[in-house]
Amino acid sequence: MALTRVPALLCLALAFGLAADAIADAPRSRSSRRRRAASARPRPPALPALVVPASASARDLQVGEACRRGLEGTSGAVVAMDPYTGRVMALVNPQRGMATAYQPCSVFKIVVAVAGLTEGVITPESTYNCTGGCWIWPGHGVVNLRKALAQSCNPYFEWVGERLGYERVHHYAELLGLGSPSGINLEGEASGTIPVAVRPSQVGHLSSHAAGVATSAVQLAVLLSATVNGGIIYQPQVSGPDGFAAHERWRLPAGTVLGGLSDGFLSAVNEGSASSAFDPDVIVAGKTGTCSGVGWFASYAPADRPEVVVVVFVRGGSGHVASAVAGRIYQNLYKPAAPPHAVGGGK
Ligand SMILES: [Zn+2]
Repeated sequence: MALTRVPALLCLALAFGLAADAIADAPRSRSSRRRRAASARPRPPALPALVVPASASARDLQVGEACRRGLEGTSGAVVAMDPYTGRVMALVNPQRGMATAYQPCSVFKIVVAVAGLTEGVITPESTYNCTGGCWIWPGHGVVNLRKALAQSCNPYFEWVGERLGYERVHHYAELLGLGSPSGINLEGEASGTIPVAVRPSQVGHLSSHAAGVATSAVQLAVLLSATVNGGIIYQPQVSGPDGFAAHERWRLPAGTVLGGLSDGFLSAVNEGSASSAFDPDVIVAGKTGTCSGVGWFASYAPADRPEVVVVVFVRGGSGHVASAVAGRIYQNLYKPAAPPHAVGGGK
């Protein structure tokens, strides 16, 4: 039976030992003195590699196993969450996915897009001519929001960020739940970082690369979920479905514009930076990130009626690698294996 093979560890078993590692590992979030103190302590016990709810349903266990197997052989983390409730079904490698914050790279472009749309700086149809200075030579040419998200066009988001100014970028980053703990019901969560202020000359680079920003995979799952569920910032909770009560932390202000994002998230998989998650039978949407030796893919599926948000983080990899991990997870969840009797059929 598949269920008996699942290492269904109780989430509360995590509590012991997380804090010290978080201090030792979290960039910019603790003083160097505390870091030194932490590294002098005996090494804490190894954390469970997979967290699923204590009262996990059969589907939760399936999600957990798909996430574990999808990441297998790759250094990183995965979080799987219901975007409409914040219920966390699985967290693979919580040390890297929840207790440590990393530069979100181009996943941060979602924040800039929401800010630009809501503040009237852009519409989904606004275009920018990317003629150089992008990650691809000689540039992407004329791009609108959909194409800019799909191709992760840096000059487009630098242009939007500079027109917004850092104060507004910072405001929307906070509104989308970055820079403070998500409140997940596990010990040792990293709060992440958003710079308080940056020089005007740095706003563009921050808007495209998220330089100086640090987020956890759990925070990005909350952020992406808000764009899917119409603007609700949920408190993520590792919990089984029975008796679960969703906790809304807040709603994005009335007038927040999210329309136009999903086209970009879908195009990223169909024709853009996340094409390694593409499968004709499982429609996935999301945003990649690649920088500073880490890779991300913040995603959801099925794209037309999202059931699960999956955020993949990889170290020593790229958004391409992360989206391939997500692709394996979704295929495992949504693409049933061929029935055994089909093998050796009389064809
Ligand atoms: Zn470009």
